Amino acid sequence: MAGLSLTANAFQILEERYLLRNLHGTAIETPEEMFRRVAKWISGTEKKNGGHWEEKFFGMMSRLEFLPNSPTLMNAGLPAGQLSACFVLPVEDSLDAIFTSLKNAALIHQRGGGTGYNFSRLRPKGALISSSKGFSSGPVAFMKIYDAATEHVKQGGKRRGANMGILNADHPDIEEFIFVKRDGTSLQNFNISVGITNNFMNAVNKDLEWVLKDPGTGHAVRSIPAGKLWKQITETAWATGDPGLVFLDNINRDNPTPGLGNIQSTNPCGEVPLLDYESCNLGSINLSRMVTENNGVYEIDRDKLAETIHSGIRFLDNVIQVNHYLLPQVKAITLKNRKIGLGLMGWAELLMLMEIPYASTEAVKLAEELMEFVKKESYKASANLAGERGSFPSWANSRFYPENKMRNATCNSIAPTGTISVIADTSYSIEPLYALAYRRVGILGGKSQQEVNGIFKKKMKQMGYWNAELEAVVLQTGTVKEIQGLPGRVKKVFETSLEIPWEFHLKHQRAFQKFTDNSVSKTINFPAEARPEDISDVYMTAWKYGLKGITIYRDGSKEKQVLQRCNVS
Ligand code: ADP
Repeated sequence: MAGLSLTANAFQILEERYLLRNLHGTAIETPEEMFRRVAKWISGTEKKNGGHWEEKFFGMMSRLEFLPNSPTLMNAGLPAGQLSACFVLPVEDSLDAIFTSLKNAALIHQRGGGTGYNFSRLRPKGALISSSKGFSSGPVAFMKIYDAATEHVKQGGKRRGANMGILNADHPDIEEFIFVKRDGTSLQNFNISVGITNNFMNAVNKDLEWVLKDPGTGHAVRSIPAGKLWKQITETAWATGDPGLVFLDNINRDNPTPGLGNIQSTNPCGEVPLLDYESCNLGSINLSRMVTENNGVYEIDRDKLAETIHSGIRFLDNVIQVNHYLLPQVKAITLKNRKIGLGLMGWAELLMLMEIPYASTEAVKLAEELMEFVKKESYKASANLAGERGSFPSWANSRFYPENKMRNATCNSIAPTGTISVIADTSYSIEPLYALAYRRVGILGGKSQQEVNGIFKKKMKQMGYWNAELEAVVLQTGTVKEIQGLPGRVKKVFETSLEIPWEFHLKHQRAFQKFTDNSVSKTINFPAEARPEDISDVYMTAWKYGLKGITIYRDGSKEKQVLQRCNVS
């Protein structure tokens, strides 16, 4: 298999979940053939030079420089193959609409997609139902039904579905929503977030009463001090990791097609705000493979990065063309806006290669500069495609009109890369390493071995600090914090997630968000001893930074995060 070098772990994941199988469940393709299948299918829409693009796409995937989101790898070329990972569905206030969207969600999950919804249009618990003269169960009860359905619709036996559930801060059932996951068993297949407006944040900051309104009539139902609600949110997030926040005004500030409606929800992990029924496909560039080396000194290879961005944008635009759309409504809006999300993985490994500590101003500056480059090249690539293929159909109705022709209403998203970064053998998304050594348990069960991160080991060898004693300590503890005789500068370069102050986690999120037209999926990790006030600070700072959403996780506060669980179950 010349050119394709996979870790045992990547190979195992591909074999169990991604490679095509026959009726007996036996894999009928190799990983190389999988990349060939994907490259062929995605280049199939090229009118000229199809062979050239097939080779380009095959090359960048098989060298693990770029990977599309999992459904594209799993389903490209299959009859009715759904290739997008991200969807938002409407939840209107009628039994018919609620169960129509539930059915649609089940179909999307079955084929590997994730769905987000804003439940705020549902009348509150206890409201009258005119047809039956009964009383509504309210949004949280319906979310539980969605959750139960998700639990039982496995994605072709590959993984369970994932959902984002949003309720706006002015919905009368907001307190029930905030507390719903506290029992540790409810809504296990949901990430939940409170929909936040600037009005609400101002009410928190000015200590005002906050009015909860019936979404049907707009009438005030009752009020609660905004500060009390804020405390409930941040203390519950401290205790369980949920709820996160989505900042709806910031999302709509960047809505590229306001004429087509307001955005009210994101996909499950938050990186793509979408209109009702809209879908988006993602792909990520592996930064640890975008470097040049000269005597152990690493630099970003800008030419290679630019070339990969241009091919990546073309790849993702092609996906829209060869995709199969299960629902006519999804097809209509997706083809109108042609949203794509090209992102990054391996950021922490790039920093380690360049010997820049994650918790440093230098890293944050580089993040901004790098993402500015990614955005600029992505937009150039999309504009070139517009010249070749035409602008996205709702362009004349968009913020780009009339100056900038674009093929895609959005170009960039920073996704969590929960599985594709394992396939590409690099660090997740823009996250720091959780540990320098890990036991690869859980991913597929079976035998596991404690391993040290390959790039950490390579750098330590180059720097002349590697020895058996050090390896033993790192295998034991996952960090170099306690190793005597290691210079402070070196320890700083290899700091792991929980050793990095939340301020730096958030600064990285802000740096990448600044040049990302969609959103950035990031988990702000806290050690177990963090206080509820820390969560309040980070949520407030996230709003002050103008971010589109915020998610935290305090070590040990729940067994596993939804995303991780989705990807490993
Ligand atoms: P991957 O690495 O598998 O391509 P990511 O972790 O980057 O996926 O997640 C990207 C998006 O894919 C998520 O925001 C969500 O929309 C969707 N997704 C991820 N995991 C699942 C899952 N288990 N079920 C359904 N959708 C998922």
